[in-house]
Amino acid sequence: MTSNPDRLNGTPEQHQGHRWYGGREVRTREESIDELLELIWILREKGVTDLNSLLQNTTDPEARAVLNQMMGQGLFEMEGDILKFKEKGESLAEGIVRRHRLTERLLMELFEMSEEEAEEEACKLEHVLSPAVTDSVCSFLGHPPVCPHGKPIPQGPCCKKLTGEMKPLIRPLNDLALGQEGRVVFISTRVKDRLEPLSSFGVIPGIIIQLKQRRPSYVIQIGETSIALDESIGREIFVKAV
Ligand SMILES: [Zn+2]
Ligand SMILES: [Zn+2]
Repeated sequence: MTSNPDRLNGTPEQHQGHRWYGGREVRTREESIDELLELIWILREKGVTDLNSLLQNTTDPEARAVLNQMMGQGLFEMEGDILKFKEKGESLAEGIVRRHRLTERLLMELFEMSEEEAEEEACKLEHVLSPAVTDSVCSFLGHPPVCPHGKPIPQGPCCKKLTGEMKPLIRPLNDLALGQEGRVVFISTRVKDRLEPLSSFGVIPGIIIQLKQRRPSYVIQIGETSIALDESIGREIFVKAV
């Protein structure tokens, strides 16, 4: 399955993995499996591993049949009432939870979506994000250890590769060292009304800025031009160090 970028603004009917009948969503079997893997993972985080609790926590009317299929695929096994991941199921679940929680961070922090909207989108994107895109999002966000709800985000290869300090790839302008240069990646929506004066000074995405001074005010240099900025504006201009 490929992800559909239009999905961010589109109608549910466009989403490939879901079918809708009269406002009711019908999941594909693959998605039902994903949802149950995710639920098993989330319950296990709370120390809950029995089948009854799992069945009480799912809204999937076919949960029992799906679970049987999953067991047949070697995703988990039963020890009495207790459900135990097998390696394959555990790593699939880990990937789904990782994609869900990273998407939450991306949508809530960067796009300033409400918790409700972010949750809805994260539930869809967790099925479709490719490993490469997931690791790019993770690096972009600075390999965050937790989601906006404080729940742990399972690490991916990108996080494990890191040595030393984990710094986000994209940081506020204020975080540059004095004399350091950064390319403007985006300007936060919180300063939309201030965008016009900024862009008239040439502060637009793609441009390279050097941080010249922090005190008494922030001074940046673009080409030959020096501009003084409020500290609060510097926090809303996001750059990638070059
Ligand atoms: Zn969360
Ligand atoms: Zn990472």
